[in-house]
Amino acid sequence: MAPITFGILTISDTCARDPTEDRSGEELIRLITDHSTDSGRIIKGHVAEVNIVPDNEFSIMEILTKWSDEARVNVILTTGGTGFSPRDVTPEATKKIIQKEAPGIALAMLTASLKITPMAALSRAACGIRNKTLIINLPGSPKAARECLDAIAMTIPHAVDLLLDSKPKIKETHEHVQNSGCRHHSENGTIALNLGHVAGRLRESPYHMISMKEAEEIINRYTWQGENEFVDLWDCHGRILSEDIRAQCDLPPFRASIKDGYAVVASDGGGQRRVLGGLEAGHSPGSIKLEPGFCVRVNTGAPVPEEATAVVQVEDTKLLEKTADGKEEKTIEILVAPKEHQDIRPVGSDIEEGSLVLKRHTRIGAVEAGILAACGCTKVKVTKLPTIGILSTGNELQQAGEEPRPGHVYDSNKITLMMLFREFGYAPKDMGIAIDDENVMIDSIKEALSHVDVLVTTGSVSMGDRDMLKPILTQVFKADIHFGRVNMKPGKPTTFATCQYDGKIKYFVCLPGNPVSATVTSHLFAIPLLHRLAGNYARPVVVRARLTSSYKLDSRPEYARAILMWSEEDPMPKAYSTGNQISSKLLSCKNANALLMLPGRTDDRGEMLAGDVVQAMLLGFQQNAI
Ligand code: AMP
Ligand code: MG
Repeated sequence: MAPITFGILTISDTCARDPTEDRSGEELIRLITDHSTDSGRIIKGHVAEVNIVPDNEFSIMEILTKWSDEARVNVILTTGGTGFSPRDVTPEATKKIIQKEAPGIALAMLTASLKITPMAALSRAACGIRNKTLIINLPGSPKAARECLDAIAMTIPHAVDLLLDSKPKIKETHEHVQNSGCRHHSENGTIALNLGHVAGRLRESPYHMISMKEAEEIINRYTWQGENEFVDLWDCHGRILSEDIRAQCDLPPFRASIKDGYAVVASDGGGQRRVLGGLEAGHSPGSIKLEPGFCVRVNTGAPVPEEATAVVQVEDTKLLEKTADGKEEKTIEILVAPKEHQDIRPVGSDIEEGSLVLKRHTRIGAVEAGILAACGCTKVKVTKLPTIGILSTGNELQQAGEEPRPGHVYDSNKITLMMLFREFGYAPKDMGIAIDDENVMIDSIKEALSHVDVLVTTGSVSMGDRDMLKPILTQVFKADIHFGRVNMKPGKPTTFATCQYDGKIKYFVCLPGNPVSATVTSHLFAIPLLHRLAGNYARPVVVRARLTSSYKLDSRPEYARAILMWSEEDPMPKAYSTGNQISSKLLSCKNANALLMLPGRTDDRGEMLAGDVVQAMLLGFQQNAI
């Protein structure tokens, strides 16, 4: 189904003079390209035309007629010029060119706006049809334009179907409207969603199908790193630095010997030396003074005397004379003449005081913690980790260990996701299992939102008549669904939404219930989202791999589980399939270390053969180079 095409016309003298002033046009483009309305019905479309004209009747009419007569767009949204100012002429211009009026749309917007402000009574918006194009006047302020658009968003796709005379779609919507109810409050005060009769459900998801790239961009657009906190050095493993770390001291802080041997003056060359004594690691550097013809015994890591210009390793020396008690070295011979600076680490040669040793956003692993310790850090400023809850949904689910009941399966998603997120350094909370009942589901979500920032759910997002998560999110939690369908396999109905709850932003990552889909989409959507919130900008590693078996391509790009094996003979890894890739079979994820990124089927290519090279995403993340 082709997306609805929109034309956005800003009507304003100010914006026509300076287009950077145009906030409303921008807002409308944003709403159409990535917004879902409170009504739960996405108006998602393609913005094909954008223009700005002054408050001048002729200029407005010129654009409206051009876009509708040349069938450039399905819907024109104007913003501005609908008020009482002398220059406001948008409704007059619109009325002159429309062939049929659509007063109901104007009325719906007015009714909704009056609930927000009595000033809405001063809007004179006109709406109508010219040829097959619907023209809607919206107010000039971004907020009011958005509110009005929200009020009518649900009607736009059907209006377009009617204008285009798309019979099957019209019939389907009629049936849906007749059979599905809308939100109402039951007598006991709990919210009940009438999900309608099964025969009236939509047969195609109303959510616009977006690409993986778009999904990634949307997640990035709506997620940003939260607060920071200080943690003890010993608790920083796996955390993300929220500041650059500069060394507070030199390492080594003194000139240190690299070898066990003798500190000497290099210009003395080879030959005999009197041993003045010994400096061990931990001794003060200034405790012995070295003169030409003498040497000082030093151990690895010990400070060398100030006058020393080289260290000669013990292997390149010979003992000539002991002390009378036979315990100490008195004279040695240097067998190999030393070079200047040989085997001495200068001050700051490993880490220079003030130098940048770790960058902000670095994930602290074992070595990074070691560097922090070497620099004398005891408290580390890191990003706060997002709090995460996992909720399984489905009437059929039981906890492992329970007596098996007919028609039931054990919940495997919960533990898989909990452990997967732990592997990536997060501490998810178990939010239980919600059965497919509106009130249970709503209560479970409320409970989860009072504890966590991110709620990851599995199940209840597909096309089943009991898949109620999306309507609950939009209708009860007033969530914005940023996407509800992605062109990929497995995991097409993956949904990403946000809402305000108790004054805080909450994130929903709703994954399909099938165990493989839930696992794969956790890797592809949930973990990147958690990483964004945690300020971790690591990226998945994508390599090229050679197939060892053939794959029939699906119409959607597919992420097939595989085991990549590297060998000494071939720099390119070989990809071994994990077997049947059906999305219910969790065994296909067993031992997988990569997802093969199989392209969607085309007329030219229906399968990939053994020996073909494909891209493969490793199931892990790589840090940015410093
Ligand atoms: P749904 O996405 O809710 O339509 O579920 C799709 C399939 O996944 C059904 O066969 C469910 O039984 C199964 N499923 C859903 N949730 C889970 C879970 N937590 N553990 C194992 N299987 C599940
Ligand atoms: Mg289900």
